[in-house]
Amino acid sequence: MTKPIPAKARVVIIGGGVSGCSVAYHLAKLGWTDVVLLERKQLTCGTTWHAAGLIGQLRASQNMTRLAKYSADLYVKLEAETGIATGMRQNGSITVALTEERKEEIYRQASLARAFNVDVREVTPDEVKELYPHLNVSDVKAAVHLPLDGQCDPANIAMALAKGARQNGATMVEGVKVTSVLKKDGRITGVTCEQNGESFTIETENVVNCAGMWGRELARQSGVTVPLHACEHFYIVTEAIPGLSRLPVLRVPDECTYYKEDAGKMLIGAFELKAKPWGMEGIREDFCFDQLPEDFDHFAPILEMAVNRMPMLETAGIHTFFNGPESFTPDDRYYLGEAPELKGYWVAAGYNSIGIVSSGGAGMALAQWMNDGEPPFDLWEVDIRRAQPFQKNRSYLKERVSETLGLLYADHFPYRQIATARGVRRSPIHEQLKARGAVFGEVAGWERANWFARDGQEREYRYSWKRQNWFENQREEHLAVRSGVGLFDMTSFGKIRVEGRDAQAFLQRLCANEMNVDPGRVVYTQMLNARGGIESDLTVTRLSQTAFFLVVPGATLQRDLAWLRKHVRDEFVVITDVTAAESVLCVMGPRARELMQKVSPNDFSNEAHPFATAREIEIGMGLARAHRVTYVGELGWELYVSTDQAAHVFETLELAGADVGLKLCGLHTLDSCRIEKAFRHFGHDITDEDHVLEAGLGFAVKPGKGEFIGREAVLAKRDNGLSRRLVQFRLSDPEPLLFHNEAIVRDGEIVGTITSGNYGHHLGGAIGLGYVACKGESDADVLASAYEIEIAGTRVKAEASLKPMYDPKAERVRA
Ligand SMILES: Cc1cc2nc3c(=O)[nH]c(=O)nc-3n(C[C@H](O)[C@H](O)[C@H](O)COP(=O)(O)OP(=O)(O)OC[C@H]3O[C@@H](n4cnc5c(N)ncnc54)[C@H](O)[C@@H]3O)c2cc1C
Repeated sequence: MTKPIPAKARVVIIGGGVSGCSVAYHLAKLGWTDVVLLERKQLTCGTTWHAAGLIGQLRASQNMTRLAKYSADLYVKLEAETGIATGMRQNGSITVALTEERKEEIYRQASLARAFNVDVREVTPDEVKELYPHLNVSDVKAAVHLPLDGQCDPANIAMALAKGARQNGATMVEGVKVTSVLKKDGRITGVTCEQNGESFTIETENVVNCAGMWGRELARQSGVTVPLHACEHFYIVTEAIPGLSRLPVLRVPDECTYYKEDAGKMLIGAFELKAKPWGMEGIREDFCFDQLPEDFDHFAPILEMAVNRMPMLETAGIHTFFNGPESFTPDDRYYLGEAPELKGYWVAAGYNSIGIVSSGGAGMALAQWMNDGEPPFDLWEVDIRRAQPFQKNRSYLKERVSETLGLLYADHFPYRQIATARGVRRSPIHEQLKARGAVFGEVAGWERANWFARDGQEREYRYSWKRQNWFENQREEHLAVRSGVGLFDMTSFGKIRVEGRDAQAFLQRLCANEMNVDPGRVVYTQMLNARGGIESDLTVTRLSQTAFFLVVPGATLQRDLAWLRKHVRDEFVVITDVTAAESVLCVMGPRARELMQKVSPNDFSNEAHPFATAREIEIGMGLARAHRVTYVGELGWELYVSTDQAAHVFETLELAGADVGLKLCGLHTLDSCRIEKAFRHFGHDITDEDHVLEAGLGFAVKPGKGEFIGREAVLAKRDNGLSRRLVQFRLSDPEPLLFHNEAIVRDGEIVGTITSGNYGHHLGGAIGLGYVACKGESDADVLASAYEIEIAGTRVKAEASLKPMYDPKAERVRA
């Protein structure tokens, strides 16, 4: 019997895998009525039914760990709530390291886990042997044990979530394919769907794309970008092995493998370094509980390592060779949130093989987000607004996901760069920089010079948790910026023009700083949400009465555009992405003025070109707009150059720079300089969860100017006092390094994590920023404590400061 399809719904969830079921469950729990989930075939018939069911709580960041931990806790309770046996058991997990580098990584993760209240302990190889007697530990260097990790039956987790959703009023209809999403005036109005060859329409203002590997094509039909692509994903299950009793889940990332004991059999799964993309020609219409053909040759190297690792496997028969498709994304992170292109179009898809452990938390977070109109906490890592429009290109995706699958178990070295699908977005001076030794990294598709190799030096990263091969290069660049002059190519900046009769009023309402300034002024500001959290960190340059020029990080451009567009009321404003129109060359350092004076007849004195102003200049035989601002804490100009003239301006600066020791500098140096100066970075130190005053950015907030989004929250925080402060740290021992996520220890207690870290080549030690709770405390109280930073289990003394340790009075910037 076919189920009736409602004519109207508050939300239509597309896809009945674990993701869709979790979103339905959580929306229903929040009291949403008229929740309708449509599944083209049967619940779980896509990827969910065949997952291995590992539930590991430890993820790369605080909020991802929070979500995974939420899933684990939920799945433990779900059976009692719904009566469906979920197979969830907390048998713990062990991750072993076979190299010193991996040991450092897992010990760092353990420190991070402790900062998030996840139960974890470091265990010796002998202890591993006790926990896991079948394991060959001869080359195991170290291990961590998480006793509350576990495993489950994935299909039943989804079925239990579906039942829980129904118990709370949601409707689930199987055998109904959504054929199109309807929209009008930039927002969702309904969906059309098909059941037994008949067409139906459901009126709704919200859809959630939970269509897994179908998600990209489904989104494309609505003009929405969801860049994901399926890959083949393998495991084998042995025949029953005599004497095999309950064991924790085991991960051996150095061999790309995981092991799960289930009912006396062993399941061995792989995250091989080079995966096989699948579904290039689309997905068969009748796909339902399907699997893909075996590929024994592909799996053989993994199996060989597995037999060495667990010798008992040598005689075990193989019961199942499983190959199933799963969707992967360019950066190995899933997508959550409202698509910037279409109001009411939500996404929860692209789970990169951790969809079971992620969906519980992701469903909760998305439901909360839909309910409140804002995410419950910082979800930028997985926010759909980080996707770049070009990333839906299928050739790009196919190449990239062949690498993404293996990333889950790859060494997560700091500064690790993606190797595939590179070179899509390039600065006009890319080739010049390359010829001068640039070693590139990638952000949002942009190739960016991260550091410059010397003549004859290898132009590749040698990754390590210690000093990497570019450490000395960075030191030279960093010191050149501090004592001479450096040149950075920041063409990857996002650039947005906001123009029109009401541009000033519009920006005044969105930005916390004063926008009613004279043309030529550059204003550093944040766009806040109603909680006072930071949605965007940017500079706004007034070009004329009606035109403003916004500069944002390359990685946040889509998010910033979406935020701006979402808030246009009946104002007359036009918002245009002009990123590709201008290159940005930054001339930074105490000798920047001398250099500028050599390439331009304009006057660069403080009187003629004061700090935080912009104006057109002649440079070489071309033109640029010179903005006197800095992200490295020195005298300097950001030169905005029409892309056609970028190469000419670069050559002009380089030629003249020979006389003043101009040094080409990379993004690593930008980062080390900005952390010395305690300049914040969006996504790390400041997010939509961080209150602008607690982030120490109150100087850029002007409540006196009148209404703006977040003003009430700013005033309330002023009245009620700060609960936490962003503090700058420097390690007393110059040897250890900080990257981010190291635990902050205050008077012996872990109180937070480092939000961004690097090496302060001028300050002479590793430096970092991080939040410290401070309810009711004065600055002196905060600083009176003894601070240490825990790195891979070792605590290192740190100096703390609430003012920038480098140039606290900003004398150099205004020099
Ligand atoms: C071999 C393997 C092992 C894995 N092991 C683990 C593990 O141990 N732990 C873990 O956390 N994760 C694991 N995963 C990953 C996990 O299985 C997935 O991340 C998860 O199942 C994805 O769920 P989903 O709901 O996003 O997608 P799916 O389960 O694929 O659900 C999408 C659904 O949408 C439906 N659909 C598509 N288009 C439409 C439409 N137009 N109309 C209506 N319905 C539509 C499909 O029929 C499908 O049922 C594994 C994956 C594989 C392949």
